[in-house]
Amino acid sequence: MPELPEIELLKREIEPKIQNRTVLEFKIRNHKLRWPVPDHLPKTIVNQTILKCSRRGKYLLFHFKHGVQIIHLGMSGSLRFIRDESPGKHDHLEWIFNESIILRMNDPRKFGAVLWHDLENDGKLYDNKVFKNLGLEPFSTELTDQYLHKKLSNKKKSIKQVLLDGHIIVGVGNIYSSESLFKSRINPLTPASELSMKNCSEIITSIREALCDSIDSGGSTIRNYVNTNGESGNYMKNYASVYGRNGLPCNVCNSKIIKIKQNGRSTYYCPICQNLDKKRSSNLNI
Ligand SMILES: [Zn+2]
Repeated sequence: MPELPEIELLKREIEPKIQNRTVLEFKIRNHKLRWPVPDHLPKTIVNQTILKCSRRGKYLLFHFKHGVQIIHLGMSGSLRFIRDESPGKHDHLEWIFNESIILRMNDPRKFGAVLWHDLENDGKLYDNKVFKNLGLEPFSTELTDQYLHKKLSNKKKSIKQVLLDGHIIVGVGNIYSSESLFKSRINPLTPASELSMKNCSEIITSIREALCDSIDSGGSTIRNYVNTNGESGNYMKNYASVYGRNGLPCNVCNSKIIKIKQNGRSTYYCPICQNLDKKRSSNLNI
């Protein structure tokens, strides 16, 4: 599944190629994504110019003067610039800017979405239903130790589940929640309300580091994420300390990494470095 770093990378890659360009054609080959792609979209965006791209959580946004196209890649979606390639079975949508700039969305599992937010009739962009439950952006200056500590104080669920649901901090995802808890030496089963202010500080720092590492290395290689040139990222190979490493030795203490299921999702951690009962050493250098 594309995670926040992949969407940030996509945004950075796509924006210079389509900003200030006019959409000459928008092709819908299949409406049936997670929510139906609105029929009016070709009429609405053809001959209109994309002013900028942005990202909110894992949503990629194309801003036009009269509205915003909201794009989510779901479990298996990808966006790719193509040249003269006939569409395959899972190529559902296409933005055509000119002969050499054609952006195509492929999504085999069809959990992705392409929606429209009309700036005149649908209210403020971030009041749209898809954004309503999203937490703060991980790099937002509003995300402080105090803010996180307060938000966690009444959460009985495990810290891993709270990070994953995205209601407090958006877009941390399954890979980076495991990785940031390892960096913070916090057991993923710890009830969120039991975390100290210092733990909160460590988690925020670790999430930001993990996401930056991933963005710098071109994203993760999980599933079929590819950037718009068709290349996959290097995060898992270069940086992952626990995710996908069950049974392999911990980089810090050499114990075997464990995999458990939390609410149906895989969590990876080191039972020694992230021991629930162990007094955590702040000097441990990970
Ligand atoms: Zn360890």
